[in-house]
Amino acid sequence: MTDRYGVVGHPVAHSWSPFIHGLFARESGQDIAYRLFDFTSEEFEPRVRDFFTLGGRGLNVTVPHKIAAVRIASQLTTRATHAGAVNTLAMQEGGTILGDNTDGAGLIRDLCDNLGLVVIRRRVLIVGAGGATRGVIAPLLALEPEQLVIANRTAERAHDMARTFARLGPVRGAGIQDVEGAPFDLIINATSASLSGEVPALPSSVIGPDTACYDMAYGKTDTPFMQWAAGNGCTRAYQGLGMLVEQAAESFRIWRGVKPSTAAVLTALKDRMAAG
Ligand code: NDP
Repeated sequence: MTDRYGVVGHPVAHSWSPFIHGLFARESGQDIAYRLFDFTSEEFEPRVRDFFTLGGRGLNVTVPHKIAAVRIASQLTTRATHAGAVNTLAMQEGGTILGDNTDGAGLIRDLCDNLGLVVIRRRVLIVGAGGATRGVIAPLLALEPEQLVIANRTAERAHDMARTFARLGPVRGAGIQDVEGAPFDLIINATSASLSGEVPALPSSVIGPDTACYDMAYGKTDTPFMQWAAGNGCTRAYQGLGMLVEQAAESFRIWRGVKPSTAAVLTALKDRMAAG
């Protein structure tokens, strides 16, 4: 029987995950079925448990259920524990459910392997202190930046998050408008501002001639953050489609034991989005 997977969120109809995993399966010769599950917060836990009881093999979990998914897992990976959130559930031998978080691995692969950006001994600014930031702080610190600043509109959330991760490396929190000093080497936008056409109110002095900018958000065209970065002299501004494909590839590897190649899938996804 074909192994069953899917992505659960609310809403979830816009998700590109079925397209991405469909291409991974075809390219790696894996026989899987992957579908969308739109469950409300009330439905989430019982319906996900039913999915696994009825033989489902794995789920991606997206907004707003990533924190609730921690409760479903009977075992968490270290990176899911650090993130305090789960984006991948996998049925294991013996019938236990593993909870993992592949967002950090996805970001790092896109930054370092696909885009060739350097983090070690660099000054890195991450804007936003929500779930996405929480998932990527530990993997970023593992790359040994000189400094990692978390800047958030609600400054207290950035300070709290920096305190949580302080034992893992040189990280500090700030309010968005309080960020100052020399330009950063890398700026990552992990706010949801782009989704409403907005840009975090950063001082333009954070960008210098060598600064690379990365927006975790993505779209058919350059995001507002990318446009803001370019308008302030940034010549290397990227969006988060590569992270989306890479975090999916890591989920696929956890489920199937096969690491799919991602370059052709990323190209196909861009073409498909451009075609509308
Ligand atoms: P959350 O809702 O958990 O956090 C949202 C964050 O954005 C908060 O820090 C919030 O600040 C900030 N924010 C929202 N609006 C504004 C604004 N107008 N100006 C400044 N700050 C703002 O979201 P997530 O962390 O889950 O997701 C963040 C982004 O990352 C989304 O765009 C999401 O699509 C993207 N993402 C992309 C992935 C990929 O694979 N490419 C994977 C995961 C996420 P405050 O605390 O003050 O409210």
